[in-house]
Amino acid sequence: MTRAVVSAKGALRWRTGHPWIFRSDLIERPATPPGVVAVHERSGQLLGQALWSPASEISLRLLDRDPAATIDQAWWRNRLSRAITRRDGIDASACRLVHGEGDGLPSLVVDRYDRWLVVQLLSAGMESFREMIVAELLSLTGVEGILARNDAAVRDREGLARNTELLHGEVPREIEVREGGITYLAAPWTGQKTGAFLDQRENRIRVGQVARGRALDCFSYHGSFALHLAARADHVIAVDSSGEALDRAAQNAARNGRSNIEFVEANAFDYLRDAERAGTKFETVVVDPPAFAKNKQSLGNAIRGYHEINLRAMRLLAPGGMLFTASCSYHLTKSRFLEMIEGAAADSGRRLSLRELSGQPLDHPEILSIPETGYLKGALVEAMD
Ligand code: SAH
Repeated sequence: MTRAVVSAKGALRWRTGHPWIFRSDLIERPATPPGVVAVHERSGQLLGQALWSPASEISLRLLDRDPAATIDQAWWRNRLSRAITRRDGIDASACRLVHGEGDGLPSLVVDRYDRWLVVQLLSAGMESFREMIVAELLSLTGVEGILARNDAAVRDREGLARNTELLHGEVPREIEVREGGITYLAAPWTGQKTGAFLDQRENRIRVGQVARGRALDCFSYHGSFALHLAARADHVIAVDSSGEALDRAAQNAARNGRSNIEFVEANAFDYLRDAERAGTKFETVVVDPPAFAKNKQSLGNAIRGYHEINLRAMRLLAPGGMLFTASCSYHLTKSRFLEMIEGAAADSGRRLSLRELSGQPLDHPEILSIPETGYLKGALVEAMD
């Protein structure tokens, strides 16, 4: 098999549980196209088998530490089947089956939407195994269709084309997702991520349980939080800057027979400021914004943005009211997320208690030695008076 040789620094990364070797830690580059390579230390010792991406800054992604492992069809079947079995018992018709590095399948994402799968092959090495992966996914899940949402920007860095492509059977434009007591429509071909924000499933169900009175869902997208809120709250206002997203949210409300949700197309920053000025109060508030920190450089501005919306949301809480706040910015670490909430609470003039902190659901495993597998943080905060 083709071999790669890595520096001591690269080898140490693998020993401490991280699957990536960067271009700068490659001493001997394999002279082969993307695929699997055997990785050695300078001493000659075999470290394991890895995916090889010649064009990428992330040259190698560790697949198996076992020197005797062969990355064949049976290997893929075994790894995929372990990931899929781990999701047994999730009470929803959509969930993530493979969370890349989190499931030992670096740069592969597989989301299940009922009888269909949406996959993302995000590296040249992974792409080279496409046929085997599709074959094994089909036999393990028996789905009717597989769609590749390979339109993610990271593919550029791998020298791969961006596209959305049907890999097997048929995949509908809209798929109904059952989640807790509600249903909503996912848009696998065109929606954000692979068609819906599956990572907030447990948080949405949790917030639904504590919702009451007047409720506000900021950054509502297709209304998934709003739908859960509407089951217990009297009235829900769903705010989003995208009219298109709100149209779908309205369809979702109708589908669930909910007539207590009002849709407001607005910038959430403006909406929160105006509501505060008007003295409006809510018993339940959700703020689930998009990632404000797209890179490390924008973290400062992002934190100011998070601080502002959280501060205002806190001020809108009626006594005893509950705020669920989230951040999906990878660059905002758990500790800085908590610091931001503490800072907003201090500035809000309210006495607030931290009821729950949440991370990622079981189908988005966050590996402690691989920070890149984690990004989602959530907190439930109660207004004490
Ligand atoms: N809560 C949703 C996901 C939110 S995604 C869920 O669980 O499914 C982020 C949403 O924020 C998108 O719908 C986007 O249109 C909206 N958005 C982005 N910037 C905004 C702003 N300044 N004001 C209001 N909505 C905004």
